[in-house]
Amino acid sequence: MANLSRRALAFGLPLGLVGGSALQILTTGHSAAEAPAAGPAPSPVAARVTPLAQIRVGRFTVTALTDGYADMPYTFFPGRTAAQVEQAAVSQFVARPSGVRFVFNQYLIEDGARRILLDTGPAGSIGQTGALPQALAATGLRRDQIDAVIVTHMHEDHMGGLVVGGQNNYPNAELYIDQRDVKHWTDPAKRAGAPDYLQNSFRMASEVVKLYPRLQAIDGEREVAPGVSIIDLTGHTPGHIGVRVADAGQSLIMVSDMLFPVVHPHATDVGFLFEQDRAAAKAMRDRFFPLAASEGALIAATHMPFPGLGRVVLDRGQMRWQVADWALQS
Ligand SMILES: [Zn+2]
Repeated sequence: MANLSRRALAFGLPLGLVGGSALQILTTGHSAAEAPAAGPAPSPVAARVTPLAQIRVGRFTVTALTDGYADMPYTFFPGRTAAQVEQAAVSQFVARPSGVRFVFNQYLIEDGARRILLDTGPAGSIGQTGALPQALAATGLRRDQIDAVIVTHMHEDHMGGLVVGGQNNYPNAELYIDQRDVKHWTDPAKRAGAPDYLQNSFRMASEVVKLYPRLQAIDGEREVAPGVSIIDLTGHTPGHIGVRVADAGQSLIMVSDMLFPVVHPHATDVGFLFEQDRAAAKAMRDRFFPLAASEGALIAATHMPFPGLGRVVLDRGQMRWQVADWALQS
């Protein structure tokens, strides 16, 4: 993150001046023939409308897709009591009996030459999920047309869609994951000592490594394609990374699990149960939130309400999330 800071400054940002533009909503209806028959409540896969949002960042088109959602119990936020988190949710008009709703957003980055997918969602392993294939289809793409997948970290809600039925689900894609996460999540000793709720991620990680011979373990901040750069956001997991897309004076930073709905960015001392190193995650937020606010950086965050696009703003001494305009802006 010190690196993010240096990098952002090195780019000479005024990130505040360089947010994406030309936003457009796309929604896709499905024909009556595809409508589900009467039966159990429809899952997102059977939803009648697939949410998509598309923004332009210089020559890039970035499309927000979503695999679905899950509600996280109010007890999952160390640093606050369940009652405090619930009260915060009530005050934001998003309280649900089942907890804080986490959306699982993915981002498709296209520049006419390459199609890069950022994260693949839980794919049914958590909550009401598994809608990413339908969302990709709604953009007119097949999985075998994806040239690269960047996985921001090896939690199941970010890599679940890489493997379906024991098969590589993106057969023509290079796969980029930070080497610190690859090392951590394939370490039998770490797996043996991990709590139950992380076992699925360990299991998936070993499958991914086996099924993706084109895995490129990322060692530090670098460009993976022209204008598409990895940034180090270690803390949430050892190799937690973000992706910065920049062109023609515009940029978008996809920050994965740097911030969670309801609790962030108002405070940095509240975390999430699944975080590997809570002190490191807090330290990263302490540095990232003010930097993002001072630069006015346009951010995409995996778990914020769809499409997860917004900015951290400083408002009378308080950090808050400002949703970015994402429709009819061109
Ligand atoms: Zn996550």
